[in-house]
Amino acid sequence: MRLLIMGPPGVGKGTMAAYIKKTYNISHISTGELYREAIARMNSLGALAKGYLDRGELVPDAVTVDLVKETLKKSEYKEGFLLDGFPRTIPQAQALDDILEEKQWKIDVVLNLTADDETIIERITGRRICSNCGALYHTTNIKPAVDDICDNCGAALFQRLDDNRETVARRLKIYREQTEPLLEYYRRRGLLRDVDAEGTVADNIKEVEKALGGFNDND
Ligand code: ADP
Ligand code: ZN
Repeated sequence: MRLLIMGPPGVGKGTMAAYIKKTYNISHISTGELYREAIARMNSLGALAKGYLDRGELVPDAVTVDLVKETLKKSEYKEGFLLDGFPRTIPQAQALDDILEEKQWKIDVVLNLTADDETIIERITGRRICSNCGALYHTTNIKPAVDDICDNCGAALFQRLDDNRETVARRLKIYREQTEPLLEYYRRRGLLRDVDAEGTVADNIKEVEKALGGFNDND
């Protein structure tokens, strides 16, 4: 199964991606995570990307396309993948089409998570992440048993630098201008399935299941 998961920053893509990954045993690629890892390692990609991430801007298309192209060469993605955070612009979507065509791969479903801006801002400003295993939490919606400590591994939780109100506003604006037009690109091809992502995580999982329902993973 080859899936894309789309939607505004903070809508819950990462949480739903973790669920899909576990339930369908599918490899997850998050370009945002790849960039944050590169920044943590202080390698050349990280040095290039850091300013863009801190400001809530998109890293230039050529860099991101290259990153995805290289990542998709790994054998773990041969059987399928869930791509999260890419494509985010029309040129990225066109580049993805070329990459997939070369491999004779096709996208099966594009999930489109939706929620209103108020919900999104509340989700992003409350988001916390495990510094060790990457598990996602929220200060009120997905509380860990002990404040600021990961349930899975006991490591400290942290807040992303770009998860503040000002940066979120910029990320949302960029999403509306550059990423939202992509929905039409995939809708026209009959690939888009809308997922109402208001409500609780359990509600969202039900919506994701509905959207994936009837999809037969035997290709
Ligand atoms: P969110 O969806 O919450 O905004 P991500 O973790 O997907 O967060 O991305 C964080 C940041 O990483 C983006 O604001 C951007 O700077 C960079 N990034 C991630 N994916 C892309 C992409 N496809 N194109 C350009 N920049 C990207
Ligand atoms: Zn953890």
